[in-house]
Amino acid sequence: MTSTKTTNNSHALTDRLRYVEASPTLALAAKAKALAKAGKSVIDFTAGEPDLPTPEPVKQAGIAAISQDRTRYTPVAGIPELRSAIAGDLNKQRQTHYSASQVLVSCGAKQALFNSFQALCQAGDEVIVLSPYWVSYPPLVRLAGATPVIVETSKRDQFLADVARIQAACSPATKAIVLNSPNNPTGAVFDEERLVAIAQLAHERNLIVISDEIYDRLVYPPARHHSIVQCSPALVDQTLIVSGVSKTYRMTGWRIGYVAGPQTWIEAMEAIQSHSTSNPSSISQYAALAALQGDQASIAQMVEMYQQRRDRLVKGLNALAGCWAQVPDGAFYVWCDVSGLKQPAAAIAAQWLEDALVATIPGEGFGAPHYIRFSFPVSLETIDEGLRRLSQWVAHH
Ligand code: PMP
Ligand code: GLU
Repeated sequence: MTSTKTTNNSHALTDRLRYVEASPTLALAAKAKALAKAGKSVIDFTAGEPDLPTPEPVKQAGIAAISQDRTRYTPVAGIPELRSAIAGDLNKQRQTHYSASQVLVSCGAKQALFNSFQALCQAGDEVIVLSPYWVSYPPLVRLAGATPVIVETSKRDQFLADVARIQAACSPATKAIVLNSPNNPTGAVFDEERLVAIAQLAHERNLIVISDEIYDRLVYPPARHHSIVQCSPALVDQTLIVSGVSKTYRMTGWRIGYVAGPQTWIEAMEAIQSHSTSNPSSISQYAALAALQGDQASIAQMVEMYQQRRDRLVKGLNALAGCWAQVPDGAFYVWCDVSGLKQPAAAIAAQWLEDALVATIPGEGFGAPHYIRFSFPVSLETIDEGLRRLSQWVAHH
């Protein structure tokens, strides 16, 4: 007779999952999409991805890669042409001197970050993460066995890092600091002076800087993007720059990101990647190459379009009783303080979805339970309709 004893399968899971749950941004975006598919008229401010399609020449390059049978394994770190184009692009934008061998191409910036933490952080290490943070940083640090140490930024400082606070959070165990400018979710863009001060601190304490610059091209004038390696060229030996084509070239689904840094670190990450995913998709790599080598004019047009949407959304949110929103200098999110609505953000976002079919991401996952994030690569009509529904909701609560 077979035993009727049931086993609790969750006992099989490892300790490292204690701090790791599914990404709330991806989960809520999937929920909004499922509701829309089921016929509900959802206004979707969840996923951080461009609404416009991938540019036509980039799509054609992907199709050509298939037709020309460029469908086999590539070198783990990426095809040489792409690594070289990425190094060239970084060097042009940041006045750096990366060679192709200092670039690793991964399956999205997310895998580039995963590789970075796996290669450089372990149990006993602390990693400074500024809050509000992009939802994946703390889990990525935890998955490497290290401990995230959260340093808060506030609306009073336009969500820009206070260097004294970072210094106060450092301990002998501090191994690295994560920077993300332009920031997801606040849209804050670090000024040069602040980056110089952070670079000086990183030098003094010998900290590794992991600089996620995936929104570097999405900056609204007069703001300008500065990379920490531009502000302090000597820091290049202890910095990893993470970026990718997802946001700039409207290629979120193609899954191409990259990391650039000291060659020994890049080689270590290549070894990790060789045992996890091998190369990122060959087809996507050729498409990414076309994106980097193609006409860049559409980026400026996209930024102009986003700026209009940003302004419309910020103005509308600030007109809602109990809400306050900062004008973001970069990325494509509006970070809205909802503390005036007197409930935790998760509860408000759940009601907005339930009562008004307006989907947003509550701030808890970003380390800020009184804020809600709106992703604004949606049409002006969608923004207007979302605001109309929310103002009705607020009027009745
Ligand atoms: N970093 C930040 C700050 C992001 O917002 C995202 C969005 N997904 C990523 C990294 C990951 O980008 P990718 O889609 O290229 O993995
Ligand atoms: N980065 C985007 C966001 O924050 C995409 C989802 C994700 O990867 O977290 O919404």
